[in-house]
Amino acid sequence: AKTETRGSFSYFESGMDARAQSRRKIETELRAAIQRDVLQPHYQPLIDLSSGRITGFEALVRWPHPERGMIPPSEFIPIAEETGLISGLGRSMLRQACSDAAKWPDEVCVAVNMSPLQFRVGNVLSLVMDALKQSGLPARRLELEITETLVLEKSGQVLATLHALRALGVRISMDDFGTGYSSLSYLRSFPFDKIKVDQSFIRDLAANREAQAIVRSIVSLGKGLGVTITAEGVETEAELRCLRAEGCHEAQGYLFSRPRPNVEIVGLLQAQRDA
Ligand code: C2E
Ligand code: CA
Ligand code: CA
Ligand code: CA
Repeated sequence: AKTETRGSFSYFESGMDARAQSRRKIETELRAAIQRDVLQPHYQPLIDLSSGRITGFEALVRWPHPERGMIPPSEFIPIAEETGLISGLGRSMLRQACSDAAKWPDEVCVAVNMSPLQFRVGNVLSLVMDALKQSGLPARRLELEITETLVLEKSGQVLATLHALRALGVRISMDDFGTGYSSLSYLRSFPFDKIKVDQSFIRDLAANREAQAIVRSIVSLGKGLGVTITAEGVETEAELRCLRAEGCHEAQGYLFSRPRPNVEIVGLLQAQRDA
C-alpha cells in the first residue's frame, strides 16, 4: 500500500509541476505580449431592447498567439491578476478602447472591464483621465465594468474613486450581478448606472420559472434604483422574448453578435444606419 501511495503522490507532484511550468510560460509570454502591445480588444454590441439599436460595445481582451491562435481571457486573466500584469493589460485595453470608440458615431458608447486589482493600485482616475484626453472620447461615452469583489472591500478610497469617475461623466456598471456573495446593502452606498445580469440567469430563461422570477426581481430592483438592467449571454429568441416581457432594458449575447475586431465595427454600425 505504501508504494502505491508514494507512486500516486509523485504522479500528483509531476502534474503540479507541469501546470506550474505552463503558468510560468504563459506569464513570460503575456508580459512580452503586453510590452509589444499585441493584446487587442474585440467588441460585442449592447442592444437597447426598446429600439432594437446598438447603444454601445463591450471591449473584451483578445490575445492572438503565434502558435496557439486566439487564447481566451479565462486562460490568462487569472494569471495576469496573480502576477500584477493586469495593470499593464488594463491600461492598454482602456487606451485602445477609448481611441477606437472616439472614431465611432457620437452616440455609441464603449464599456471596459476593470479588475479590482487596478483599483487597489490606486491610479484608476488618472488612467481614465489620460485615456479620455489622449483619445478625445467624451467621458459620457465611457462605461467601466466592475465586480462585486470590488465593492466587498468596502474601501473608502474605491468609493471616492467611483464618485470622482461619475463626476467626470463616466458611467459605472456592476458586472456578473448575482454571482457574488455580497449582500445587497452595497447598492445603497455605491454609485451605479447599470447592472449586468450574469448569463447563468439567462440560460434556460424560457423554460425555467426560477430564473424568470430572479430576472423579474432584478429588473424591478433596477427600476426602483433608477439603473439600467442589461442581460448578458443572450443566445436565443426565446430568451429575448422573456427578457422583453420582463421589461429588461438592454441585452448582449451571441444572438446579436459575437465579439468582433474593431475593423468590423464601423461596418456593423453602417448596416444599422442603412437598415
Ligand atoms: P465578462 O466581462 O462577463 O464578459 C462576457 C463574456 O461572455 C465574454 O467572454 C463574452 O465573449 C462571453 N459571451 C458573450 N455573449 C455570450 C453568449 O451569448 N454566450 C456565451 N456562452 N458567452 C457569451 P470572454 O471574452 O471570453 O471574456 C471572459 C471574461 O474575461 C470576461 O467576462 C471578463 O471577466 C474577463 N475579461 C475580458 N476582457 C477583459 C479585460 O480587458 N480586462 C479585464 N480585467 N477582464 C477582462
Ligand atoms: Ca464584463
Ligand atoms: Ca459579465
Ligand atoms: Ca465574468
